Amino acid sequence: MKNLKVKGSLKMEDGREFTREVEYCMKCGEINPPDRAICDCGGRKFIFGEKGSFRFKDNEIVCKCGNNYFKMTFHMNCNPIYNKTYQCTKCGNYIGVQSYVENVGY
Ligand SMILES: [Zn+2]
Ligand SMILES: [Zn+2]
Repeated sequence: MKNLKVKGSLKMEDGREFTREVEYCMKCGEINPPDRAICDCGGRKFIFGEKGSFRFKDNEIVCKCGNNYFKMTFHMNCNPIYNKTYQCTKCGNYIGVQSYVENVGY
């Protein structure tokens, strides 16, 4: 399969390094390998970030600082992959959400 996913780490505007060390399927909650666009469960939405910097449980994202409110700082639509980056409003930690969407309409 062609790898359409973002690799490695991203330098954010404030100089923080944003890595995608770990990635979870948002449907089944299992760890997803970075080169897999669609999970075994059929899930097409993944959350990723630095290992230990967030928790994903019961469909809720909780930052390592305990905050569960994130603001969107960046989004990129490279059809069929849609990437969004969120930042914790409390400690500034970054997490990303990636969706694999077929037939995205504009
Ligand atoms: Zn899954
Ligand atoms: Zn935080």
